[in-house]
Amino acid sequence: MYALDRYENISSWKLKLVNKTAMRIGAGHAGLDPTEPDNSVIKQNGKPFIPGSSLKGVFRAHIEALFSEERHHCFVCGKRGFAPNKENRALFLRELDGEGFKLCPPCALFGNEFIQGRVYFSDFLLDRPASIAIRDGVGIDRATETAANQKKYDYEVVEPGAAFSGELLLINLNQAGEEYRALKLMVEWINLGIIRIGGSVSRGLGRFEATLEEEMPLGEAMKRV
Ligand SMILES: [Zn+2]
Repeated sequence: MYALDRYENISSWKLKLVNKTAMRIGAGHAGLDPTEPDNSVIKQNGKPFIPGSSLKGVFRAHIEALFSEERHHCFVCGKRGFAPNKENRALFLRELDGEGFKLCPPCALFGNEFIQGRVYFSDFLLDRPASIAIRDGVGIDRATETAANQKKYDYEVVEPGAAFSGELLLINLNQAGEEYRALKLMVEWINLGIIRIGGSVSRGLGRFEATLEEEMPLGEAMKRV
């Protein structure tokens, strides 16, 4: 039941994310443009965007916290020291569809070395031009958590009101199932401010309004093409 050798049911969520407070996903060393400084926000073709991997990471962390109890009983998470690897691969795959095999919702949704995830995140791209501002920051000494010599540094943020659109692809997820419901809950949590996206969230950055604009089975999507 966990193997994805059959795509029985694929649906697409078109999601829109509008930031209510400034947002910052730093380019850092992962920046695509080597001419951008380290304090810039991540951009694609000169425009800020939200990498699908960033959104997936945030969803995964919150869904893992939500199912912390279930993770104790999970074949992968619940067994200390059990991580699928070359040696135990055969055991893992043999037990995959066996009686009593239990995967927690985060494992079922996001997968591991041997199981494909069931949700894919596209990059979220701008719908309309966005403003970028430069903010003054104060360096924090992580050891003492005090401002380190009041050292100032500037960093880019995306101003509130930027609209990003992207897609989640849901594979073999039953709408009555807890994995599906957990994903829906994450959209609510974005709107409640429980989930914030990007960096400096403790300073109030990264609050978003999320709208699930369209949810359709892939069969419908194919008819439209
Ligand atoms: Zn698990």
